[in-house]
Amino acid sequence: MEVSFPALILIPMAFHLVIIGVCWLYYLMREQAARWTPGRRRIYRCQVCEFVYLDARDVPLARCSRCGCLNEAVKT
Ligand SMILES: [Zn+2]
Repeated sequence: MEVSFPALILIPMAFHLVIIGVCWLYYLMREQAARWTPGRRRIYRCQVCEFVYLDARDVPLARCSRCGCLNEAVKT
């Protein structure tokens, strides 16, 4: 079986393009997964014990589960 010269170039090139496309899709999906946040939770950081915690309730102040101190949301 004789392989033509253009096929010697085009077949490996197409093969590598498919690999690059699969890698691109993988990183695109990974980036989308990183952006996903579970519900609308607020992030709180305790000013007393530095404990970082989440609260799903839409309240301006949330009680620290470690020391019981009330803290403001850092990020919504
Ligand atoms: Zn605390």
